[in-house]
Amino acid sequence: GNVKTVMTEDEVRRTIDRLAFQVIENHGECENLVLVGIQRRGVDIAARVRTVLEEQLEKTVEFGSLDINLYRDDWTTLDVQPMINETDIPSSVDGKVLLLIDDVLFTGRTVRAALEAVLDYGRPSRIELMVLVDRGHRELPIQANYVGKQIATARTEQVDVLIEETDGRDEVLLQHA
Ligand code: 5GP
Ligand code: MG
Repeated sequence: GNVKTVMTEDEVRRTIDRLAFQVIENHGECENLVLVGIQRRGVDIAARVRTVLEEQLEKTVEFGSLDINLYRDDWTTLDVQPMINETDIPSSVDGKVLLLIDDVLFTGRTVRAALEAVLDYGRPSRIELMVLVDRGHRELPIQANYVGKQIATARTEQVDVLIEETDGRDEVLLQHA
């Protein structure tokens, strides 16, 4: 189908920088902050946010990842079947502020499963969500604290998020079915 660029390389880079600065606005020295990227491009984005935070704050920022996929064979109910593979979360998240980071927020099912998974690790004081793209069509009352770009999509459309570390270049495309 027909493909449209919705974020250029410059836009992707500036947006990730802006998102990182918004975290500093909210959390100052980011003392108890732990970034948790959702595989796979969420981890790439989280790593970039971490780099900005570490440069700005001149200290290390804790980092983890969550590999979570949903079986999407039955779209008609909210009974999601999350498949949690490798997770790499810092040993204690008690009292920490966890910042979940993903590339695209759609129905909210992945975030719901991610919340359940991280809450198995301990008792964070707060959990926030950052996404590069919010494409709408939520099926759960979930919203992101930090949104790179809101993109109006049809349910049948697909957003292609290309990140240099994984895809060789930075770009966001909208694919019409
Ligand atoms: P949700 O669980 O909110 O329905 O979908 C979000 C998850 O599925 C994210 O992990 C995201 O990577 C993936 N996803 C859902 N829709 C899209 C899309 O249009 N494009 C991309 N690149 N990923 C999507
Ligand atoms: Mg994903």
